[in-house]
Amino acid sequence: MGKEKVAIIGSGNWGSAIARLAGLNVSKHTDVFDDSRVPIWVFEEDFEGKKLTEIINESHENKKYLPGIQLPENVVAIPDLEEAVKDATALVFVMPHQFLAKTLDILDGKVNKNAKAITLIKGVEVKGADIHIFADVIEKRLGISTSALSGANIANEVAKDTFSETTVGYRTEEDGKLWQKLFQTPNFKVQLIDDVAGVSLCGALKNIVAVAAGFVDGLGYGDNSKAAIMRIGLLEMKHFCQEFFDNVKEESFLQESSGVADVITSCLGGRNKRVAEAFVKEKKPFDELEKKMLNGQKLQGIHTAKDVHVFLKERDRIGAYPLFDKVYQISWEDLPVAKLTEGL
Ligand code: NAD
Ligand code: 13P
Repeated sequence: MGKEKVAIIGSGNWGSAIARLAGLNVSKHTDVFDDSRVPIWVFEEDFEGKKLTEIINESHENKKYLPGIQLPENVVAIPDLEEAVKDATALVFVMPHQFLAKTLDILDGKVNKNAKAITLIKGVEVKGADIHIFADVIEKRLGISTSALSGANIANEVAKDTFSETTVGYRTEEDGKLWQKLFQTPNFKVQLIDDVAGVSLCGALKNIVAVAAGFVDGLGYGDNSKAAIMRIGLLEMKHFCQEFFDNVKEESFLQESSGVADVITSCLGGRNKRVAEAFVKEKKPFDELEKKMLNGQKLQGIHTAKDVHVFLKERDRIGAYPLFDKVYQISWEDLPVAKLTEGL
């Protein structure tokens, strides 16, 4: 069997941090991976008067989305999506979820049929009363086996190599081991579980909980309230998965980094939490705060809250998920934030 050729599809804050690990690991595991280059698709833009791809390839740093972190020299920025995935056998999807559909339109029919994929994207696809995890969306559209990685992984911390854990929900054990080889380092522990849906849903739904945690901080309520939001949020996450998906494993919520650990880190210091806190304190709309505070990085939580709201409404189940509903109403329907905890 030939060596695996990796391509990273997406180059934001997390995309760049994970490209760093992939670049290092393909050079370490040359028995498995082609180490000559790891193409990373970059949605081209100008940054400080220069093309971002040129900046990355000349300085080996994504100065816009992951400043101050050196990328391995085998990570090569490519602005053309088709060229980036050409010949790749191991595709890593890592972009804000709002851009996946357009990306798949371009990739349809263009990827190696024997390739496999993994998604690091946190969100869900909702079409009326139907909901899908992105691993299923990618798998169906491209016809390739797709796993999911999610965990307590603030990108800037992973990039600085402080100790973190993550969870891969694999399609086959063999795929799981491959992804573990690609991402694991002594300070980034990759655990494997046979639960693509549970891992994916944890990553999507915890972002709604993180928005609620930001509201609590904006209101100045303190740690008891934050802990209560985390507990209620985790239960709604679990309830949601068990109600709408088959065979989701409880370990993904309670034992793996994908579950309780990601709820905690996201509610303490994630972007969704920080911007939601500013939404309360500064009384400005989310899109304005996102631009001002995140320099091009994207929020996922308020969009997932809306997607989940649309789905629950279609299923007539909004009342069963009061915290998810409050986050939606405060973010999108002008419900006063002080009503967050009413009726929880
Ligand atoms: P990001 O928030 O840094 O978003 C910026 C990226 O979006 C850039 O690569 C930019 O080029 C791209 N972009 C902007 N407009 C685009 C367009 N029209 N089409 C395509 N791309 C466009 O991205 P990220 O932090 O890498 O997050 C990707 C996914 O990973 C998200 O689902 C996120 O929830 C998840 N994630 C993020 C972190 C983190 O700490 N950043 C950690 C774990 C998981
Ligand atoms: P934010 O997008 O809220 O920063 O969360 C990052 C994350 O998913 C940490 O695991």
